Amino acid sequence: MLNIVLFGPPGAGKGTQSVHLVEAYGLVHLSTGDIFRSNIKGNTALGQKAQSFMDKGQLVPDDVTIRMLESEVNKHSDAKGFIFDGFPRTTAQAESLDAFLDARKTPVTCMLALEVEENELKRRLLARAETSGRPDDADPQVIQKRIDVYKAETAPVAGHYALQEKFTGIDGLGTIDEILDRLKAAIEH
Ligand code: ADP
Repeated sequence: MLNIVLFGPPGAGKGTQSVHLVEAYGLVHLSTGDIFRSNIKGNTALGQKAQSFMDKGQLVPDDVTIRMLESEVNKHSDAKGFIFDGFPRTTAQAESLDAFLDARKTPVTCMLALEVEENELKRRLLARAETSGRPDDADPQVIQKRIDVYKAETAPVAGHYALQEKFTGIDGLGTIDEILDRLKAAIEH
């Protein structure tokens, strides 16, 4: 099984690259952000819980997020592997994911971290707001909050996988194909 944690700050290109990695390796793409947004759209109890956090650029609480992610993994018993996009975003989420996958004897294979500097992230997110319809992309204060939360709570997750010797940093600047080639080289390394 190939279980990839695709990591990086908001706007780094995780969603874009996930589509191509799914095509290349036949993986199941689990984006916690997408799953929350589809729950908000469907007005489910989970969506109602998540919305206020997302609109402010805060993280949805770990217990809610972890439970949701595990139930999504359980829906795909025949998967060849997963791309985890937007998860884990805290050290507690990483510890839960490791325990959950270890119990299934399908541990995380690698963490690939897309690296993009802050001004470029802000530029991309504001540009994305033109078409994404995402309220969290349209407001510079919410974007700043998401970047601050990333630095404080999410960035340490890289260290968690570095300790397991599973971390690879990937230059996230360039064309989509160039970045995809870097990701594939790291996967097939
Ligand atoms: P981006 O990577 O562009 O910030 P996402 O679509 O991954 O966007 O996430 C959007 C929002 O969904 C986050 O700002 C957060 O509120 C919520 N979210 C997504 N994944 C998680 C997670 N693993 N833990 C907590 N909240 C999450």
